[in-house]
Amino acid sequence: MSDAATVFVATCDLSGQVRGRAVPHTDEEDVLRTGTGWVPANLGITSFGPIAPGTAFGSTGDLRLLPDEATRTDIPADPDAGKPGLRLYLADQTRLDGEPWACCPRTFLRTALDELRETTGLSVTASFEHEFTLEGLPATRPFSLQRLRAAEPFGSDLLALLDAAGLRPENWLPEYGDDQFEITLRPADALTAADRAVLLRELVRDLAGRRGLRAGFAPLPDPAGSGNGVHIHLSLQDADGRPVLHDPARPGSLSAPGARFAAGILRHARALTAWTAPSPTSYLRLTPHRWSVGGVFLAERNREALLRICPTSRLGGGEQGRQFNLEYRAADATANPWLALGVLVRAGLAGLSGSAADYPQPVVWPENADESELADVPALPGTLPEALQALEADKVACSWFDPDLLTTHLAVRHHELDRLDGLDDAARARETARVH
Ligand code: GLU
Ligand code: MG
Repeated sequence: MSDAATVFVATCDLSGQVRGRAVPHTDEEDVLRTGTGWVPANLGITSFGPIAPGTAFGSTGDLRLLPDEATRTDIPADPDAGKPGLRLYLADQTRLDGEPWACCPRTFLRTALDELRETTGLSVTASFEHEFTLEGLPATRPFSLQRLRAAEPFGSDLLALLDAAGLRPENWLPEYGDDQFEITLRPADALTAADRAVLLRELVRDLAGRRGLRAGFAPLPDPAGSGNGVHIHLSLQDADGRPVLHDPARPGSLSAPGARFAAGILRHARALTAWTAPSPTSYLRLTPHRWSVGGVFLAERNREALLRICPTSRLGGGEQGRQFNLEYRAADATANPWLALGVLVRAGLAGLSGSAADYPQPVVWPENADESELADVPALPGTLPEALQALEADKVACSWFDPDLLTTHLAVRHHELDRLDGLDDAARARETARVH
């Protein structure tokens, strides 16, 4: 039973921000059946507030926000902080008759997963790791017990909240950067994993606010400091649920289909970043020697790779095939998790179904490849305008989107660029941190 007086029905926009409408809890059953109203133009709201000029939507048009019952999440009342309980649902944006709206980010991911399954028989398991900055604590050392303790009772309360909400927290750690922490969740089917990423950020922010702290998810709050990455872990299963990425006989132990999937991500990487790292300041983080991404390459256990083949362990009878996964490191929390995972699935599917000429077997760089050997790997876009140009030039990537979604995304991104135009890096990072 929830003690919530209100039920918030939410979606997540093109900058990873959660927006929606509340209804009285007495209307919950109705809303689950019929949804609540929503407006297409909301997709054009930038993270700084205004609707971007040049989006595909104007003052007309109506949608429904149709909650998915499986996403029900309760935030218990917190009388000490003066906050009542809240029940939260994530919703699909649908047409008035309930048919999918092609510009809905959650629908984009679901459609990509359906197409992957129909074309290849494969499904995706995923998990999102989030780094963030907790402002309002004393200075502490990286990975230290002191930092962990300084964040109490926030840390323990967060684990309890996530656990009760069914998000399945795995690791809670004091990270390397000043005031930085990381929370990881256990793997789940791809839609659930992306739903949990949307919810996680809101639960972290809400709890921090109730504890007198501020949680910041900006990609690089201070250009001289550490980045807040979102690392997306992926694995593939066949129709019987058997893992298909692992093949010890092949380079990096990455199976043939795994290599094709990776080839798709590598080929479209420059366009993908326009969705997975969509803030102008995302590109301050995506530079070498930050353990974010040093270039477009696939490597065993290298934290500078775009795609990292993660370690497996036989400890405790661990099964390698089930642990084996790829980690995409060029995402941050200014991205919408449904779209970020959706574009990775689309690119992977292009690799699996495209020709070997277009998607050649990628080099799997060994763990001990040194920097001089990696000097010639392609670079990621150095700026958001470069990423947007790469997206527009990549006709395969453009074909994944409804034209209105693509137009609106480009308009939002250009408006955010204009908004930060003329500022130096530190000021751009500060402005971004204010809204993320
Ligand atoms: N903070 C790094 C990033 O921006 C990641 C460090 C790590 O490997 O956890 O992605
Ligand atoms: Mg980390």
